[in-house]
Amino acid sequence: MKILALAGGVGGAKLVDGLAQILPPENLTVIVNTGDDFEYWGLKVCPDLDTVCYTLAGLANPDTGWGRADETWHVFESVTALGGDSWFRLGDRDLGLHLERTQRLREGESLSEITRDFCQAWGVRPTVLPMSDDLIPTMVTTNEGVLPFQEYFVQRKCQPRVSGFNFMNIERSEPAPGVLHALQESDLVVICPSNPWVSIDPILAVPTLKSALSSRPIVGVSPIIGGKAVKGPAARMYRELGIQPSALAVAQHYQNLITGFVFDTVDVAQDDDIRKLDIQTLVTDTLMKTSYDRRRLAQDVLQFYEGMIVSSKKFGGKA
Ligand code: GDP
Repeated sequence: MKILALAGGVGGAKLVDGLAQILPPENLTVIVNTGDDFEYWGLKVCPDLDTVCYTLAGLANPDTGWGRADETWHVFESVTALGGDSWFRLGDRDLGLHLERTQRLREGESLSEITRDFCQAWGVRPTVLPMSDDLIPTMVTTNEGVLPFQEYFVQRKCQPRVSGFNFMNIERSEPAPGVLHALQESDLVVICPSNPWVSIDPILAVPTLKSALSSRPIVGVSPIIGGKAVKGPAARMYRELGIQPSALAVAQHYQNLITGFVFDTVDVAQDDDIRKLDIQTLVTDTLMKTSYDRRRLAQDVLQFYEGMIVSSKKFGGKA
């Protein structure tokens, strides 16, 4: 079974890691949000792409969920001692990646080509693709003005009140090479438990990708457990946008796209309401604390889908 996973950073990378544990590498393609990408210290930084790649390479920092394990901070300390920007932390090992990527981008290579080469160097065998090689920066509309995503998220620590999002240049953007082919080849698309507003929506908004997705079976996994985000501002964003954060709210967010939805046992009381949206459901443990949890959730998602194809004629495509 060929799986296409849509992922942001921390939550997405965990489920992707679980899928990579059980699928042959040629059967897993990950499309990663690039709306968070930005320039810092003159370098191109791609937080979600790097989190997914570091996780699959076994290089990720398990405590922070971002950056690399066994990191040191000499460059950061040196820059800040000179009065340089210090609101975004880049470790020494991590910097090697940003330096090399920035150099190669300046020489005219594309983000997808560079990502492919880096994955090869790290021994990452599933295919990891940025959603697009085009620049599509996420802008956050807040009560303090329109802010580039990382300024809202890291520099301002999500304090400004959110009222909307804009993915700049999205109408003119194209999926990265390989994205549409992987989509057409896939038996199932899995929307990982990533932030729906700023990790998954940018991917879904790439024009031709969006229309191609509508022909595939799609299962979403809730990043909201018991009304809260495991990490990050997803629940806060729902509230500030006037929506009660819940598994149901996530299901409604993806309502016209998904056929199946996986959410946590603590939210089982929402099952009837989610099913009323004409979405099939799987209620299971979705908190991934360990490597085993990631694998188990990935297995649950795949078994859920297999059960759905048996019991339903609803899917089009190859199912
Ligand atoms: P970011 O770009 O680094 O914020 O990464 P994502 O958008 O991929 O991840 C953030 C989301 O992941 C948050 O909304 C979290 O609630 C969710 N998340 C993180 N860990 C878990 C987990 O173990 N289980 C589930 N269900 N969601 C998780």
